[in-house]
Amino acid sequence: MIRKISALLSTQFQKELESAYIYLFFASYFDSMGLEGFSHWYKKQAEEEEEHAMKFYDYLHEQDEELKFLPIEAPKLDKKSVIQVLNETLEHEEYISKLIDDIYREAIDEKDYATQSFLNWFITEQREEERQVQDIITRFNLFCLEGGNLYQLDCELGKR
Ligand code: MG
Repeated sequence: MIRKISALLSTQFQKELESAYIYLFFASYFDSMGLEGFSHWYKKQAEEEEEHAMKFYDYLHEQDEELKFLPIEAPKLDKKSVIQVLNETLEHEEYISKLIDDIYREAIDEKDYATQSFLNWFITEQREEERQVQDIITRFNLFCLEGGNLYQLDCELGKR
């Protein structure tokens, strides 16, 4: 594996853990509002991101590549509202998808077939995550703008 791809995979390990950290930050926001269903959804999401991070951890070790540990920044959110958190979640997932796509393109350029094969799962997973968040935004708009209420949506998300 070339050094550049190895470094990108280490960075992705950090990005997945950073995602978990951001989602726990959002979970905490919802817990402080008493929206336990939303909080539950974000805690589950954080667990998934940690699992994603471990896939990069395992892959780099399997390939006898160095895993670099990079700092994780504190999450920020200026003006908090439910829809803002949902929109930022979608933006974040789109950002993560783009990072995965960038590594994939690099793996194609370098004819690194093992890494392409490894990343295939993530390519599918990212589209799925984007769809899930988009679905919550659609439901939020239906529930909250069309005469429903936030409590109903909170109950639904609690069932994840
Ligand atoms: Mg992820």
